[in-house]
Amino acid sequence: MREMKSGWRVAVRYGFPLLMVALLVAALWMSPRGAQPQLHLHTRLLMGTLVNLTIGSVPRSQADQAAQQAFAEMVRIEEVMSSHRSDSEVSRINQVSRETWQPVSGELGLLLRQGLQVTTLSQGAFAMGLEPLTRLWGFSGNPPATQPPPSADLARWLQAYPSSGAIELRYLGEGAAALQESDQSTLQVRLKTQSVGLDLGAIAKGYAVDRAVAILQQAGIKDAVVDAGGNLRIIGSKEGKPWRIGVQSPRQQDQVVAVSQLSGNMAMVTSGDYERFFLYEGKRYHHIIDPGTGLPARSGLSSVTVQAPDATTADALSTALFVLGAEKGLSLLSHFPGSAALLITEEGKPIRSAGFVGEWLSVPQ
Ligand code: AMP
Ligand code: MG
Repeated sequence: MREMKSGWRVAVRYGFPLLMVALLVAALWMSPRGAQPQLHLHTRLLMGTLVNLTIGSVPRSQADQAAQQAFAEMVRIEEVMSSHRSDSEVSRINQVSRETWQPVSGELGLLLRQGLQVTTLSQGAFAMGLEPLTRLWGFSGNPPATQPPPSADLARWLQAYPSSGAIELRYLGEGAAALQESDQSTLQVRLKTQSVGLDLGAIAKGYAVDRAVAILQQAGIKDAVVDAGGNLRIIGSKEGKPWRIGVQSPRQQDQVVAVSQLSGNMAMVTSGDYERFFLYEGKRYHHIIDPGTGLPARSGLSSVTVQAPDATTADALSTALFVLGAEKGLSLLSHFPGSAALLITEEGKPIRSAGFVGEWLSVPQ
């Protein structure tokens, strides 16, 4: 936490057992010094990250109750979607033999369908079937990896990973348009080869944020920020003024390099090479993998922040853009109405798409 000229800023950090990793996006709550902000902050460690709910404009008791409901929903989603929990639906699918159709819940199926759209449009840069590869790299391991996996293991994975159709979905009901979350028996998933396993690490947090927002809204909350490790969505305003959201510097973790003033209903999600990484023989290895090489993506970017109407889309897109790099990444945005991005190159230079709401700050990199 650091004092700023016009108020105070909270730059939240989340921790892994051996490593403190700074958040991608830090919420800035700018209040006149001395004034009592009517904001209720709730924090919980979920999905391997610190989740912050900031709720305004309601009495504390209502905020507390709504926050507990939102957290409960995020816990439920983690129980379905985590590939680190052996009892999750995702792990159940990963445990069965490949090339066989498996039933999938409507909720997971709909999320896979949404993610597969990004996979198609990004020409495979966004891939939800990388679990065997991300396990090899071990960025989410306990303890997290400190050196690359043997190149023979990577070569074996690369040879076996299908160039297309890694994850397939099919509907036995009335087709995609009629698909409902309750259509459990009609939706099936198939993983193509043994080298494919579900890892929803690049989309599930965004989905959890969207669900948390929906729960808060059902509980009568109109003004809030939900931030799950830099996967963030705002609704309403902060006491009639826009929420101020800071984008963290990829190399100076206590610095904010851009500030976005957002109100209404919008998501803002960052993917960066500084979230989970290790340095080995002077080289940076990070957790966003290029499925084409099996190696951490080197597209010339160190951070990608995407704004979109919902956090699920923003989460998937920020990862996809990171892998694709500036040129192809920015053209991917045109398929997603209301989306925009701020890219930061490895040299610390900003590249903004049309429509990105935010101001680049002149701070040393
Ligand atoms: P994010 O922080 O949203 O960019 O997601 C990164 C996480 O998603 C990693 O920790 C992996 O679990 C997974 N992942 C890594 N590379 C990819 C990729 N190219 N496409 C989709 N998911 C990925
Ligand atoms: Mg993502």
